[in-house]
Amino acid sequence: MALACAACGHPPPPPAPPAPPPPRARTLTILGTNDFHGSLQRLPILAGFVANVRAARAADGGAVLLIDAGDMFQGTLESNLNEGKAVIEAYSALGYTAATVGNHEFDFGPAGPAVTAQGDDDPRGALKDRAGEAKFPLLTANILDAESGNRIKWQHMPASTTVKAAGITVGIIGVTTEATPFTTMPANFAGLRMGDTAAAIKAEAERLRGDGADFIVVAAHIGGKCTDFANPDDASSCDGNEELPRLLDALPPGTIDMVVGGHTHSGMAHRIGKVAVIESYSSARAFGRVDLRISGSGVITAVKIHPPQLLCPVPEGQPPPPPAECKPPDYEGRPVVPDPQMTELIAPYLEAAKARREEPIGVEVAATLAATYDAESPAGNLFADLMLQARPDADVALTNGGGLRADVPAGPLTYGAVYESQPFDNRFAIVTLQGRHLRKLIADNLQAKNGIFSWAGLTARARCKKGQLDIQLFDRRGRPIADGKTIKVATSDFLASGGDDGIVGRLDLPAGAVQSTDVVIRDAMVAVLRKRGGKLAATDLYSTKKPRLAYPAPRPVSCVGAPAAP
Ligand SMILES: [Zn+2]
Repeated sequence: MALACAACGHPPPPPAPPAPPPPRARTLTILGTNDFHGSLQRLPILAGFVANVRAARAADGGAVLLIDAGDMFQGTLESNLNEGKAVIEAYSALGYTAATVGNHEFDFGPAGPAVTAQGDDDPRGALKDRAGEAKFPLLTANILDAESGNRIKWQHMPASTTVKAAGITVGIIGVTTEATPFTTMPANFAGLRMGDTAAAIKAEAERLRGDGADFIVVAAHIGGKCTDFANPDDASSCDGNEELPRLLDALPPGTIDMVVGGHTHSGMAHRIGKVAVIESYSSARAFGRVDLRISGSGVITAVKIHPPQLLCPVPEGQPPPPPAECKPPDYEGRPVVPDPQMTELIAPYLEAAKARREEPIGVEVAATLAATYDAESPAGNLFADLMLQARPDADVALTNGGGLRADVPAGPLTYGAVYESQPFDNRFAIVTLQGRHLRKLIADNLQAKNGIFSWAGLTARARCKKGQLDIQLFDRRGRPIADGKTIKVATSDFLASGGDDGIVGRLDLPAGAVQSTDVVIRDAMVAVLRKRGGKLAATDLYSTKKPRLAYPAPRPVSCVGAPAAP
């Protein structure tokens, strides 16, 4: 073999390149959020946490994915005044990998202030505009065109996406709760239907595996309910009847590896079957996290599930503090610093909302009026009363628990406080029905486990009699309401047009029984409050001794095997 000789007149061969270092083990961190509901003010802190994780992964050769499980836009003035544009802009800046479509993503209807389409408006115009603006895909595998039965094919809204990170290929599929048609404004979902979620995931997962995916994540606007996060392998605190555990049961083992869940606003951080499942409450109170340990040769050797990480830890049972009072813990070995760029990005949106929010209404709230989703509450009764006062043509007013989103705080009442509690731009619908229909509505709602109905203009006494729920109704003067009496109910277009599981539709009312209006309920309520002035006290609205709805607790009420009423 020829020896290189610098003195022999031949140039030396180039030096051999240094051998590459043996590939080292690394970590892929997958962060999940869900049910953000327009909480822009918490984003600088969330961005601070994400920055710390990214710094840690950059230092050890790994990577970070950021996935959202839907219901991003609806719920605050900061977001709703721009139909979610601010959220998309902020999520893009934060570097989200993908998000799925929540039921409330349909709430804004067409682009512009109207919430339901007129004429040629596209009833999904606002959502399609947001998808077009996003620097990440909005995934949806199980929303179908009702007529053709094919998956919807809207721009920037594929069924799944694939990313390479930390040396492995991750497939991400998006799915939405099968309750979507009746948990957004039904008119905005017209012409669409939900497909079989398990079948959609299975088909998409098979395709992604065929294309080389090593790990499959489902971003699901579908959730569960768990209470104990001490041991991720012990899911005994999780409610197996929720939609997500039932979906997991329907999937063949090995179809998927992880779920970022949502919709139920609950916590999950568990291995169910062999699937790592996270869900992290709502409104950016927390985020979820799963770490994949990846060997030097690219094999996933461990999947670690972290409990939901609160952004601003508070003692259990207390609400999260306002962002200014938030004290985030150190994370990844360094302090969490609110991201100044994110603060700057959201500033104009906060400013626009502030003026509107601070408008005083001229009413003093003596002490916080609690809003309760699944039981009668002062705030629920207040809003039902205001609906009835706004519609003197009605005998009774009805609003649903899912529409009631926040307590009414003590002090001078502002537009913002009413808005937070009633963020949906629903309009009045007047439903003409009979006493027996009213009893069926109350019976169905008492026997359901979703949000309770709040009523004004009537009281109901329900009891178990011979294994059946027996309900007596009384009008606002305490007179019994007969089955054949004609009653006008002021409610929302949401409920009247199929919301809350189609409860009004199940009454089989004759054509013409539902009269829609163009009056936004919240604006009408605010007008009533401005005229009324004075004070609001919880004791005037709700008393446990004299509830508007008396029933054998708890809901869902079951009379099977109940002792006979005295
Ligand atoms: Zn939802």
